[in-house]
Amino acid sequence: MQTLSNPPANATPETTGVDTSIVRRKTRAVPVGDLFIGGGYPVAVQSMINEDTLDIEGSVAAIRRLHEIGCEIVRVTVPSMAHAKAMEEIRDRLIKTYKPVPLVADVHHNGMKIALEVANYVDNVRINPGLYVFEKPKSDRTEYTEAEFNEIGEKIRETLEPLVVKLRDQNKSMRIGVNHGSLAERMLFTYGDTPEGMVESALEFIRICESLNFYNIELSLKASRVPVMIAANRLMVKRMDELGMDYPLHLGVTEAGDGEYGRIKSTAGIGTLLAEGIGDTIRVSLTEAPEKEIPVCYSILQALGLRRTMVEYVACPSCGRTLFNLEEVLHKVREATNHLTGLNIAVMGCIVNGPGEMADADYGYVGKQLGYISLYRGREEIKRVPETEGVQELINLIKADGRWVEP
Ligand code: SF4
Repeated sequence: MQTLSNPPANATPETTGVDTSIVRRKTRAVPVGDLFIGGGYPVAVQSMINEDTLDIEGSVAAIRRLHEIGCEIVRVTVPSMAHAKAMEEIRDRLIKTYKPVPLVADVHHNGMKIALEVANYVDNVRINPGLYVFEKPKSDRTEYTEAEFNEIGEKIRETLEPLVVKLRDQNKSMRIGVNHGSLAERMLFTYGDTPEGMVESALEFIRICESLNFYNIELSLKASRVPVMIAANRLMVKRMDELGMDYPLHLGVTEAGDGEYGRIKSTAGIGTLLAEGIGDTIRVSLTEAPEKEIPVCYSILQALGLRRTMVEYVACPSCGRTLFNLEEVLHKVREATNHLTGLNIAVMGCIVNGPGEMADADYGYVGKQLGYISLYRGREEIKRVPETEGVQELINLIKADGRWVEP
């Protein structure tokens, strides 16, 4: 499996002189309840409940369910004034029966009054620049003059100002959440249906916030097409660098769908940017129960070494040299050890390439000869044991090292 042209799979800073850790883009820390997004804080995991916010009991239960499995920020949809008012009760019940949960309210078309109300009860308000001041498209329009463009810009400023002031005075935050699929018509006419149009939409809102001394801003530029989402976020970072802005980014691929492809699509978009150091909070949007999104988020973060929430397993794909049923053994090892967060465990099929390719595993289970495996601590071979006792002996070794905890 080892190739000559690439550094070995177990390359570490010590062996190659290259630091393989991701250098995250420097951003300001933006508060969402008792958490911060950006500013070097761990990449936060978020999701959104599906319940109607008017169903107070159902919403409280759904928020709690998500929070308990690791969703650190929960978003709710607030399409009307009644929904906005319901958030007061939802927040209070969470505090009384559970604990405060960082809450984000999503407001939609012409949502200024709703946003102003809900800003009293949540930690962050998400607005969509394409919908916040919504002008019905005119079918006979072929262009926007500069005067028309600026006139709507003025209307946006007037509408946004009270919300910005309210959030600023409470030290709360705002997400300026641009969606490729809902750009304002005047942006479409001026910049096209492009990443540029998405970035300019965000910048227009940022400038209004900054003119009011409000900087608790996070940004998202989402699209259902992964290349568009990646290009928009890269361009946003470039423009922010040019303008001396350091707002954190929320990453996500919208309408990713479900199942394996939905997860791969989200990972392709979110993972690519995270690997470049871009991104401070993520949401994987699946057409499935929101609880299903959280493990995907953590897997992306763990795979990139950005957060450690589970055991990291290294296993070879097996080949003609494999000396035992690798799939079965990996399954058994995982069953026995998957509660030991923070450990690296390798399961390798043979002694020829296994030890060299175990990366920087803390423990290794390696095929030695027919019927026997070797256990490793780091790179040191500790003992040879019959394969039938392999998993138990691995547990014994971890116990002897004082690194075992009961499940
Ligand atoms: S059995 Fe050995 S050679 Fe084959 S894939 Fe596994 S480690 Fe590589």
